[in-house]
Amino acid sequence: MTKKIYDETQLDFDDVMIVPRPSTVESRADASIVRPYKFKWSGRTIEGNPAIASNMDCTGTFEMAKELEKHQMFCALSKHYSAAELIQFLECNLQEFGSNDYIFISTGLRETDFAKLSQVMKTGLCKNVRLDAPNGYIRGFVQHLNKIRQSFPDAIIMAGNIVTPEKTVEIIENGADVSVVGIGGGSQCSTRVMTGVGRPQFSAVLDNVDAAHAAGGMLCSDGGIAKPADYVKAIAAGADFVMMGGYLAGCSEAGGELITKLVETTEISSKTNNRLRQIKEYKLFYGMSSEYAQNKHYNGMHKYRASEGIVSLVPYAGPVAKKVQELEGGLRSAMTYTNSRTISQFQDHAEFYKVRHQINRNSKAIERE
Ligand code: 5GP
Repeated sequence: MTKKIYDETQLDFDDVMIVPRPSTVESRADASIVRPYKFKWSGRTIEGNPAIASNMDCTGTFEMAKELEKHQMFCALSKHYSAAELIQFLECNLQEFGSNDYIFISTGLRETDFAKLSQVMKTGLCKNVRLDAPNGYIRGFVQHLNKIRQSFPDAIIMAGNIVTPEKTVEIIENGADVSVVGIGGGSQCSTRVMTGVGRPQFSAVLDNVDAAHAAGGMLCSDGGIAKPADYVKAIAAGADFVMMGGYLAGCSEAGGELITKLVETTEISSKTNNRLRQIKEYKLFYGMSSEYAQNKHYNGMHKYRASEGIVSLVPYAGPVAKKVQELEGGLRSAMTYTNSRTISQFQDHAEFYKVRHQINRNSKAIERE
């Protein structure tokens, strides 16, 4: 039997760089990084910044949502908040910001998930839904999506995860406003190691974006953002939203426990002749399919499943405002390099080099990072 092999090399963010072009956008301040969104099914419109915090326990927190909203960035809340907690938060947030447009309520495929979602949606406090199934290819996924769309006709629904254009079209036709693209690219994900399934994220975005737009929908790139340039490249490839976990997981607003370590350095004290010690701060960050998360939320793992997520410590990064500034600064600067005043122009203008190296390995500044 001849097996099909897709020959075209599949690329990650590190495999490409954006081509500069003559530009009359001389200042970064001239680049507008907020864009309009109009959603296919919901019909609602929002102005926003393409960044969205992932609905992982550690990043989809109330604290993260409040801080990101100040920058017109989005947050998909963890689905493990109770309905009462969500409703209380949405009420307070509505008083503070006057809208809950930047918040997505996350839900899964279980009946209990739907019951909780309905309880929250019934209040009318928030009309944005993130339907999250690690494997958007299972049959029940599209059925469940349909049910959510029928139940909440004016909701903005972001649904995934998938990586192939046929599936993007199918889920948009079945009620999603936004197709969430990304399998196996997450920083805490071990799907590729455990199953061999997945697709490099840059190619996944590039290959799905036209299908999403032609179907009248939008695309959210999910996973693999390790630095501002990856965020910029995802947008340049056409993503309407860019979902991030690991990039935000070290921030004060993230939910992981703060862990302080006393670490021995390689430097020797001239006074005592002992090694110098240094305090290092980390935050705990776990994948939502990790054994840690399964134990926390579902009383342990079923025998038939293996963990497809990992637990790690990420360096403590301080307030998320700093990370936001890096994302915004990176995007603005890339826009000046490509003669782009708006995100839409940036997406039209962006072209890529396929590269073998990203950084100058002699650069001390990079080594220090
Ligand atoms: P990151 O920005 O950290 O690279 O990726 C975040 C994305 O990884 C999440 O939005 C989600 O789609 C995915 N993810 C989160 N936890 C897990 C996990 O335990 N296993 C897998 N396979 N993917 C995960």
